[in-house]
Parts: sequence; structure tokens; C-alpha cells
Amino acid sequence: MTQLQTVETHQEVRLEALFQGATAEEIVRGMVCDLFPGRIAAVSAFGPESAVLLHMIALADRSTPVVFLDTGKHFEETRAYRKLLIERLRLTDVRVVEPDPAALSARDPNGDLWKSDADACCRIRKVEPLHGALAEFDAWFTGRKRYHGGGREGLAFFERDAGRIKVNPLARWDARMIDRYFDDHSLPRHPLSEQGYLSVGCRPCTAPAADGESVRAGRWRGASKTECGIHTPVARLEPAQPEGAKPAARSASSNVFAVDHAVTRLERADANGHRGGVLWLTGLSGAGKSTVAMALERRLFDRGWQVFTLDGDNLRHGLNGDLGFSPDDRDENIRRAAETAKLMAETGVLVIATFISPLRVHRRTARDIVGWDFHEVFVDAGLEVCEGRDPKGLYARARAGEIPEFTGVSAPYEEPDAPELRLDTASREIDACVAELAAYAARVLAHGAPAAKRAG
Ligand code: SF4
Repeated sequence: MTQLQTVETHQEVRLEALFQGATAEEIVRGMVCDLFPGRIAAVSAFGPESAVLLHMIALADRSTPVVFLDTGKHFEETRAYRKLLIERLRLTDVRVVEPDPAALSARDPNGDLWKSDADACCRIRKVEPLHGALAEFDAWFTGRKRYHGGGREGLAFFERDAGRIKVNPLARWDARMIDRYFDDHSLPRHPLSEQGYLSVGCRPCTAPAADGESVRAGRWRGASKTECGIHTPVARLEPAQPEGAKPAARSASSNVFAVDHAVTRLERADANGHRGGVLWLTGLSGAGKSTVAMALERRLFDRGWQVFTLDGDNLRHGLNGDLGFSPDDRDENIRRAAETAKLMAETGVLVIATFISPLRVHRRTARDIVGWDFHEVFVDAGLEVCEGRDPKGLYARARAGEIPEFTGVSAPYEEPDAPELRLDTASREIDACVAELAAYAARVLAHGAPAAKRAG
């Protein structure tokens, strides 16, 4: 299971938040190098603007796979330009994907389906081949931009399409920015650009654009068709409200507006050598959450990490000191803890949060509040072992009826269905559990070498 697959809902919304304020280059680098290494491809038509995104990808990792859908109908100029860019950018994994010959002979034997049914032609020559080409990837880049119009005006940086993340790093770029990037990096132009082709697809379906026309005006000119079909429109979604969860708190004032920070999360990750995030340790009292957390905090701090343990008991001596253990108070305890963890993670810190958080809905609420880089860790020792340990004598008092609504005794604990990690502290030494958790944190949150170390 990939890291993304473990984040169940609305990854595109989480990514949008993670990359808030980031440049196109930062998005490309973050996706290629940190979040989806080996699991992301680019799809390029090697058209008049394609060199910009391909150049950014090559700077991040020139072995990133680039898929070219060879419909058999392309201009020779496009093939020549593809060859030129491959050499110039030193791309090492450009994959030329052709239509299925059996589909062509059955559905377009004369090669002129585009005249009678362009949608069917695009389906055979583009949509279906792309489906197979992307099968091994979790995410892909497109070069689409809002200024192209034709329904792209509201394009987001991140979409979800057929179970994959679709990334549009240049969504907010315009023609002037494209031109400047070409000039700044001395990139070669598509041979048809100087003939008025602003967007280039297949020869039968592409014409030059007249002065003042939009970029894609020459595509399928005279037809109502504006897209080939590989980009199905995907509505932007807000995170779903988990069943039974209370809505995350919003500002009570309609006159309060959030402002962007001057320092982005990626800059903080560059400085620290790891991203901020939250390891949310859940489990019964006595399972070893705090013991594991404090040992992990020490270990990672000694390795140079920005790390802090947000301990549930400690919070009840301060921020949550006014809360008891009724269902409403437990909900509020989790909400405040998650909001605090989120703020700390946004500063670049790895937060190790230790909260019994007994109900699945509690952890789901925390996940939705924190957003991206929330990792649920089940510290699992079983009730019998925890009660046998009883380090604070709480189980004995709960059994004696002195503590009402005690988790595991008189209040339920729902085990996680699919935590990112499960630590078996009943049968394994604490050191081994800490080592496993440290390795997990490094795997999912490490972010190259800290800037200070690189400079030194
Ligand atoms: S752009 Fe035209 S020729 Fe190319 S696949 Fe679509 S309909 Fe066929």
C-alpha cells in the first residue's frame, strides 16, 4: 500500500493545502522528489508550451517517466520537436504509447474515424492507451493552464481522476510567464509556433489560431468538441464529514480572513530536512504511548529533527484542564489537541501526539483537522496486558467504581481499522517499537538534506 493510499479521503484537497503559496517548480520538485518518487509520470503532447513543464521535471529528476500518446496522426514537426527536447533536457524515460492495433483495425480500419466521430477516434488513440500507460502510477502531471479557457478557467493545482492525483503545476501561468520562462532558460520553440499554431495536437484536428483568438481555438475548429477526453472534469471537493463527527470549528466571525504566511511549508522542510507532520499515537491507557513517544522524541531530536510530544495527560493540565471525560468533553479534547497539533506541524515540527482517542470518529476528526501528513499509529498491547501493567493504578480504581467512563473498562475503545502503523508493545521491546516508528517517520517525512548542512 502506498503512502497516498493510506490517506483515505480527498488527497487533492490536502495537497492543495500543503503546497499553498508554492511555486510551480516547488510543486514539481515536491511531487517528484518527496511525495511520489517513482510513482509519478508526466503526460506531454510535446506542444508549443510543453518545454516549460518538461524542463522543470528534468531539473527535479530527468528520469521521471514522460508519456507521449502517439496517435499516428501527429505532425512530423512534433516528432522532430520531441526528439529535440529529449536531447536538450536529457530526458531518459520518454515512453511512446500507441493505440491498440486490434482496436484500430476493428473500429477505425481506414484511419478516418476523426471525420465522422472525433470522440470515438480520441478514445481509441488517446484515452484508452493512456489508461494502460498510467496503470503503474499514482499521480501524473499535465501542462494545462487556466488561461487556455474552454472550461479550464477554474483549474486547481491538484485533482483526483480515476483514483490518481492529477497535478497541474502551471494552472495559474499565463502566456507572458510562459514566454519569459522560454527566454530565461533558452528553451527551443516548437517548429509550428512561428506559423501561428498556439496549441498543437493531431494534424487533421489542428489549425493555426488567428490573432486575438484563444490558445486552443485551432483545435477541432468548427466542431463543438474542445477536449480529447483524457481530462474528465473533476469537481473540487471539500473534505467529507465523517459520520457522527462534529464539524471542525470555523471562525465564528464572517469578518475574519486568513492570510498566507511569508514562509511556505516547503521552505521550512528545506531548512529542517523533514516535513512537519503528526504521528497520532492511539491506544489504551498503559499501552505505552507516552513511553514510546518520549523515547522517539529523544531519538529524533538527537538526529537533528524538530520534534515535540503533545501528550494527552499534559494537555489536561493546561489547555484542556477545563474538560472532563463525558462524550462531549472527549470530543472537545480531541478537537483542541488536533488543532494544536496542526498548528505545530505547520511550523515544520514533527508532532508526536499521544491520545487514547478511543473512538474511530475521534481519530477521523483529528485526521480531517490536521489534513496532510497525519499518520495514525496504533500502540497495541491489549486490555489484559494494559490492565496488568496499570502503571498509574487507574484500572484498579476503575474496577472499583472510583473512575467512571474509563476506557476499556466502562467506556469503549474502538481499535483502528487501517492505521498507518501498528506497534505491538505487548510482545516487543519498547526499543524495537521506537526504532520501527523512527524508521517510519524518516521514510514518510524526510525531505533531503537540511539547507544549513547543504550550504556547509
Ligand atoms: S485529435 Fe483528431 S485525429 Fe487525434 S485522436 Fe482525436 S479525433 Fe483522432
